[in-house]
This record gives sequence, structure tokens and C-alpha cells, in this order.
Amino acid sequence: MTREHGERGDGLVASKPYRVSIEDVGDRAAAAFLGFASGDALGATAEFLTPTEIQAQFGVLRDIVGGGWLRLPAGSVTDDTEMSLCIARSIVEVGFSPQDIAERFAAWLKTAPRDVGATCRRGIRRYIVEGTVFAQPSEMDAGNGAVMRMLPIALASVGDSSVLAKWSTAQAHITHYHPLSDAACLIFGQLLHLALVGHGKPRLLALTDDFLSHYPTFKFDGKFVQSSAYVVDTLRTVLRAFFETNTFEDCVVRTVNWGGDADTTGAIVGALAGAYYGLQEIPRRWSKKLQGEVAKEVQRLARDLVARSPVAARPLNVDVPRVFLRGLIE
Ligand code: MN
Ligand code: MN
Repeated sequence: MTREHGERGDGLVASKPYRVSIEDVGDRAAAAFLGFASGDALGATAEFLTPTEIQAQFGVLRDIVGGGWLRLPAGSVTDDTEMSLCIARSIVEVGFSPQDIAERFAAWLKTAPRDVGATCRRGIRRYIVEGTVFAQPSEMDAGNGAVMRMLPIALASVGDSSVLAKWSTAQAHITHYHPLSDAACLIFGQLLHLALVGHGKPRLLALTDDFLSHYPTFKFDGKFVQSSAYVVDTLRTVLRAFFETNTFEDCVVRTVNWGGDADTTGAIVGALAGAYYGLQEIPRRWSKKLQGEVAKEVQRLARDLVARSPVAARPLNVDVPRVFLRGLIE
């Protein structure tokens, strides 16, 4: 995949559709998952801090140094990546099965992970006790725990938005059943789909505007919103950072330095920016810092998920602006 710096986002319109190569989608998928894990590891340091506290401690937090309230070793990822890995491994090994995903969540919970959201824990416990893979609708379920594990679903469904919609809801409802969580899962998945096949920011912004016309509560502007586990704050933070920046690193650094639920916003925006900007823009100092085999495993799983996706079986003809397509045209 080749792309000149700053080439995207100028809104040129394609004269005719091009075929997107599966290799390129695989590269972008690998970048998305690597960006996700990097954003998680970077942001964990700043989780629950305010921007002022982050500034006092780090100036600008732009290196993976660990610490934070979880006292993580540098390069550790948290529940966001761990739960996403559960879903990714599950789909690669058995296809999409909420039952199998829930089983892996249960096994993960039994390892006593450092960080588990309350709604996730409750949903997984319900699965362990009752064997059900659907949470009851609940006013309390508007947390970001379902959207934070959407990436593998988007990678496995790229090329078919109806598959995305079906799987997105099914995976979310294992723990979270709330219309705002459902909406956030879907728009995040749809934005990933566009970025994965090489669309530019004007296309992603048009989709976002359409979404916001239906869900105005997610509207964002230049004003600071302290992100929290509330999915509306999470998504507003992510969208603002993505559309206000022009490189992968700026995007993720800006996001995590806003603090709040910084590992989760960092991870989500890292996935979107990774898919959008591509592997070569992910700082090597971040990917090298990730502990153990995580960097390798997420990239391998990302490519395996795309290889199982509808786009692999039936290459898309998509209207992608010509200038964005260098390296994509077969
Ligand atoms: Mn986390
Ligand atoms: Mn978090």
C-alpha cells in the first residue's frame, strides 16, 4: 500500500469505480488492529485522568510507558484488546457464533483480568449462570463495552453491511442491550468498512453526518467533552479526534491526552485511524513496545478475518476517489 502523506481528504470524486484488492484490505485491517492495540496500550496510562493531570505528569503523553491506575507494565494492553482478541480468535476458528464468543469471554473472566467493565462482567456472569447470549434491554447498558470490541466484527464482515448489522447487534447484546450502544457499534463498523476499502475522509464524513441526523445526541464540535464509559462521550471524542487530525499519530495522541476513558477512546480511534492511514503510519516505537506476541497476533488475525469476509469472496467495485487509490488499482 502506498500513499503520499496528506494525500487523502481532498474530496476528489472518482470518475468510475475501481476494484479494491484484497491484499490492500488485509493491510488496512492489520493496521486497524495494530492501531487499536497501540491506542489501548498508550491510553491506559491516562485512563481516568483529566487533560490537566496528564499535562502535569507527562507534558504530552506520546510514548507507551505503562503505569496508570492499573499500574501496567509498559506495552500491556487491557480488556479492550483482550475482549477483541476473544472475538477475533473465535470467528477465525469457528465462524461467527455468539455462543462461542460468550464462552471465550467466560474463560477470559476466569483469568481474573486486571480491568473489566461492570456491564461486561454482569453480562458474562449471566452467560455463565444461565447460558444465554442475550442481555435484557437495560437503561444501564449505554456504556462503551460493546463498541470497544467491534473491530473484529467489522473486519470479518467487510464488503457486506447487512452482515455487519446483524453480527454487530448480536455481539453487542451478549453484554450490552441499549439503542445508543447499538447505534455506536454500527456507525463505528460502517466507518471501518469505508476506511478498509480506501475511501477518503469526505466519504466518511458524509456517512457520519447522515448518522448524526438520526442520532443528534452524538453530535460533536470543537468543544472538549471529557470522555467516560458512556458510549455517547466515547464516540463524540473519537469522531472529533479523527476528523480534526491528519496523521495516525496526531489522531491517537490527541485522543489519549484528553484522558477520561483514554485506553478505550485511544483503541477505538486507533482502529479507525489505522484502517484509514495504513500500516506505514503506525509509529514503530509503539508497535515494538507492545508486549509478547500481541503485535504479531493482531495483524495475523486481522488478515485472517478479512480472508473470511464477504469482500474476499466477491471483490467490491467501489467508488473510491482516484487520488486515494494509489496502490489499490489492480
Ligand atoms: Mn481497558
Ligand atoms: Mn477503558
